[in-house]
Formats: sequence, C-alpha cells, structure tokens
Amino acid sequence: MNTSESRNPSIASKLGEVDPQIVEITAKDLKRQQDSLMLIPSENYASRAVMEIQSSILANKYAEGYPGERYYNGCQFMDEVESLAIERAKALFGAEHINVQPHAGSQANMAVYHALLEPGDTILGMSLSQGGHLTHGAGVNFSGNYYNIAMYGVDAETERIDMEEIARLAAQHRPKLIVVGATAYPRQFDFAAWRHVADSVGAYLLADIAHIAGLIAGGAHPDPVPYGDVITTTTHKTLRGPRGAMIMCKAEYADKIDRAVFPGLQGGPFLHTIAARAVAFKEASAPAFKTYQAQIVKNAKALAARLIENDFRLVSGGTDNHLMLIDLTSKYEKLSGRQAADHLEDAGIIVNKNTIPFDKRKPRTTSGLRLGTPMITTRGMKEDEMVLVADFIAETLENRQKASIKRQIRGKVKELCAQFPIYEYLQ
Ligand SMILES: *Cc1c(COP(=O)(O)O)cnc(C)c1O
Repeated sequence: MNTSESRNPSIASKLGEVDPQIVEITAKDLKRQQDSLMLIPSENYASRAVMEIQSSILANKYAEGYPGERYYNGCQFMDEVESLAIERAKALFGAEHINVQPHAGSQANMAVYHALLEPGDTILGMSLSQGGHLTHGAGVNFSGNYYNIAMYGVDAETERIDMEEIARLAAQHRPKLIVVGATAYPRQFDFAAWRHVADSVGAYLLADIAHIAGLIAGGAHPDPVPYGDVITTTTHKTLRGPRGAMIMCKAEYADKIDRAVFPGLQGGPFLHTIAARAVAFKEASAPAFKTYQAQIVKNAKALAARLIENDFRLVSGGTDNHLMLIDLTSKYEKLSGRQAADHLEDAGIIVNKNTIPFDKRKPRTTSGLRLGTPMITTRGMKEDEMVLVADFIAETLENRQKASIKRQIRGKVKELCAQFPIYEYLQ
C-alpha cells in the first residue's frame, strides 16, 4: 500500500513486511471509504495528522494518574501531551474542568454516573427507540441494570421533545440526574430549558453531546456548557478527531469525575489518542472548522429538502443539525429500514437502519433510515451534490428489485466520489 507508505514511511513499510494481510484488508477498506457515499451521522474522516499521531510511540507508555501525579515514572512528556489536550479543549469549549481520558463515549457516561450516583438512583433519559443512546438507560446496557430509569421520548404529533412533558416526568419521577442528548434526534436542544427542569427537582444535568460536539465547537448549535453540570462527548463524530471521549464539568465536580475515570473505571490512559485529541482540538479551533460545521448543517437541510421533494416523509419534517430520519412507511409500506439500508449499500450508499418514533417494527428491522452529512461534507460536497445524493437514494429504493439499475447507480456514486477524494494521497 504505497499510499500509506508515503504517509508514514517508517511504520507502513515495516507493516507491509510484517503483516501484508492486514495491510491488504486496510487497503480494501480505504477503497470502500473512498468509493462510497458514507452517510452514517456518527462517523467522520479524521485528518491525516490525527491518524499519524495515533500510530506514534506515545502508544508505548503507561501513565496511570493525571499530569503531575502519575503512578509511573518517565511521564514528563505524557504530562505535556495531556495538559496540552486539556488546555486546547478548555479553550474550544470554555468548560471549567476537562478530563480527556475516557476511552469512548460509553465509558464517559459510565464515569459520570459512577461519580454522581449510587446504584438504584433514578436517571431520566431518552429512550433508545426514540433517539436516545444505549447508555441513557437501555435495558440491555449497564445503565438500565444498575440504575432506576425513567424514560422520555418525543411528542407523537410534532416528533419533537416537549419541554412541558419533560417537566411533568421530572416532577413525577424525581430523578437524581437528567440526561439531555441523543443519537437520532434531528432538532436542536434548548439547554437553558433543560437546566430549568433540572433545577425544579434538584437533579444534576448531564448534556451528552457526542453527536453534536463539532456543531457546538463550530457555533452551529446552542452551547450546553453554561447549563450542564457535566457534559460528555465523543471526539470522533462531528468533532472529527480520533476515537475517544472527554468529560467537561463545573469545577466543583472535578475531583469526583477524575476519580471515577481513574482509578474508578479505567487503568492507563491511551496517550496516543489523547495526543490525537489535542491535534483535533487544534484543528477545530481554526476558522475553517466553523465554515465546515455550518456547511454540514446547510448540506443536511439541502439533502432533507430534496428527499422531501422525492416524497419521503422525514421525522419532525426536516432537520436543524447534521442528521435526519426517513420514515419509510410513508412511501413503501412493506420496505423495512434493514432492507432499505441493504439495497442502498448495493448502490454504494451507506446509511443506518433506525427506529422512528413509535415504530411498529423491531429495532433489528425498523421502519426508518438515519442519514447524516458530516462525512460527505468533510470530503467537500456542497448543496448541489446533496440533490444528486437524495436522487440516488430515491432511485435506488424505487428500483430496489432491479439489480442492473442498482449497478448503474453504483457507477454514478463512484464517479461522484472520485471528484471528492477523502485523502490527498488518493488524488
Ligand atoms: C455515540 C454516542 C455515545 C457513545 O459513544 P461510543 O464511543 O460509541 O461509546 C454516547 N452518547 C451518545 C449520545 C452517542 O451518540
């Protein structure tokens, strides 16, 4: 794979010698990522700089503890890396305290619960089937097992969160912690209103911004930092960094949060990905990142508008952020989300099947599709391309039983993708 040799000669050329098999698999996925329209809203293409530092010697070091107070010797440069990541994250988000060690978003949420709650305490979270995340109280997740869960969803008419209903549920269940945030909600969150509800029952407010952290950093979504006691986020979604997460909180919770992450739940931090987070925060503080995030939203609105012109119904009628949900039942009664996603993959279009609010089908089948614009925006596509993408989707689903037409669309998708290389070394 000479492409990655030129990117990181010392490592890639060695890898080719040591393990050509893994190089070959990676090369195949590189081609898949280049040749497909990747519309999964939780994914992104991290920059080459972010990827390079992840395969560095920083991966070799144990550094349990925090800068200045490690349980291992030889950590002076690890301290520099982690402190830089924290400093940059603080500058980007304006939070009082930040822990950059959680390995992933689920671990970040687990640490917050571990820090602020006792097993059996009540959490009010969004139900998985209506857009919440597993860690917001799903029965199959630790959160649904160790804590008492009260669930909210969206209003049946508007398919939006109704703050009066949230206030009513909070008064009824008296949660110790309220989670605001979602994985499949196409509208903005009014964090000030959530703060008001949390205060009305003396609950902690956790804003889980895993999906929208990039939008927030880029000024394309209201800011939760003034309102949340704690804020968790992944770093690999719209924020476009490496896989990882972080927790932001008010200074008064700093010790509890830090102790919950280490030694509460994790051992050694992954300094190579913490360094990559630092790189991503630097990239996110450049003016171009604002433009990028604004374009993600513009593209989502353009894609949504064209899908609607193609007679698809979107949950809540459209989008204010980076994602949208297609309700397939409005157009094809018998076509499930699972089948539709497979047909689209035949044409090189990668989406998630997803439940829609009040879905009659099961989570493995679903009646909806979840689509997002972060990745196609990263590769440079704009509103004009969104029209093409929406038309490819409509044409594929309309001709889903005709393999030859799906093949033709696959060809057009590849042509479009070729005009927008995902990394410079593919040009
Ligand atoms: C993606 C996501 C997470 C979890 O992230 P992982 O890194 O996959 O564990 C948590 N909360 C929300 C809202 C998410 O969208």
